[in-house]
Amino acid sequence: MPTRTLIRNGIVLPMSGPKVSHDPGSVLVEGDTIVAVGPVEQLDADPRSEGAEIVDASGHAVIPGLHNCHLHSGLLRGTAESMSLWDWLEAYVDPAHKAMTPEIAKAASLLCYTEALRSGTTSVMDMWRFMEGSAEVADLLGIRATLVPYVADEEGYDYFETLESNRRLLESHRTASEGRVRTWVGLEHLLYCSPQCFRDAMAMAEEFDTGLHTHSSESIWEVQESLKRFGRRPIEEFYNRGILSERTVVAHCVWLDDREIELMRQTGTAVAHCPCSNMKLSSGPARIGDFLRAGLDVGLGSDGEKENNSVDIIDEMKFASLLQKVTTLDPTVGDPWDILEMATIGGARALALESVTGSLEPGKRADIVTVDLRRPHMTPLLHGADFNVPAHLVFSASGADVDDVWVDGHHVVAGGSVLRIDEAEVMATAQAAAEELFERRRAVLAEK
Ligand SMILES: [Zn+2]
Repeated sequence: MPTRTLIRNGIVLPMSGPKVSHDPGSVLVEGDTIVAVGPVEQLDADPRSEGAEIVDASGHAVIPGLHNCHLHSGLLRGTAESMSLWDWLEAYVDPAHKAMTPEIAKAASLLCYTEALRSGTTSVMDMWRFMEGSAEVADLLGIRATLVPYVADEEGYDYFETLESNRRLLESHRTASEGRVRTWVGLEHLLYCSPQCFRDAMAMAEEFDTGLHTHSSESIWEVQESLKRFGRRPIEEFYNRGILSERTVVAHCVWLDDREIELMRQTGTAVAHCPCSNMKLSSGPARIGDFLRAGLDVGLGSDGEKENNSVDIIDEMKFASLLQKVTTLDPTVGDPWDILEMATIGGARALALESVTGSLEPGKRADIVTVDLRRPHMTPLLHGADFNVPAHLVFSASGADVDDVWVDGHHVVAGGSVLRIDEAEVMATAQAAAEELFERRRAVLAEK
């Protein structure tokens, strides 16, 4: 008989429909699956609750695990501030990629996934390097991870991953860790990858029946460069190269015109929206309202540790709302419920995981997060007609308020601590790896 857990008497936001909440409510989990969600009395009376281990969720929000739809593991946090995007790529990011080793890359994933998990993110899509190590640490931590190698083939970018290394990762990790770890096909950037690379990447995604992820239209410069080189805007060029599809997720999408949005809609391509990164790198505001009106699937992404500088999706929700408000000068956009949807079921849809996770519904995997609301910054807590928990989660909470996390029914964070590893050891490993990386980067720069 699988173990049963009753997460009892919390404020449950199942994200299964518009503005549904159970206050107070409970969630009953059996093994890796949610079997019931509803008002506390209803689940107390459910015969299946008998003998279940009870987790008291009083004073906590109980929400679906969050999805980070665009992340780069990394160790450059806080190093490249106040530079232009392309200067920063040249001075920090590219030399660091050249200096990267499998061991350093693995230490970076261990750090980033630990940070993600303890801040309530149960699913990450990570574009990174040497991802066998990422798969190993995702398995160790128990997080859901979609691995996307950084593939590039244009001259001067030969230090990235290749279609061959992406294929090897697909062969070994198309799905692993009972389905929690998956591999997609990754393309670094329009200007880093040849047209043939795009076509081969899409053919490979189809061959393995998997997804494809890339960046686009982050800066105005990039759009101008695409027009100059290809005579088309970036998303039109993606369409021309055959990579827009229901299996494709494009990060950023800041500078899309109406025709590009229409191409995204027609092809069923999803967006990973990274508001903090877009603000920090002065990229601009994506047209999120227009994307949602067009029916695009939109999930939230943190982008990397260097352009955020955290991978906390609870923080990202606030940025997502505020950026929409200030861009449109309309305070009615960026409603907390809409933003919560983007971070949960919206992200799951973008990652083609909505049949598995993204909401708290019977039959779905138990990816569940509790957020402690008994804090000064989330007081007062109002119920009924004045219900303010969605607003607290989006505007007041941060990842540090997360108490418990389950992924596939496994309790992986308790009392705010990741259970399967020693966090002090994770930080020490990351510190040593970063020192080695910076040493190696200095040697790369000296060679120039
Ligand atoms: Zn990125």
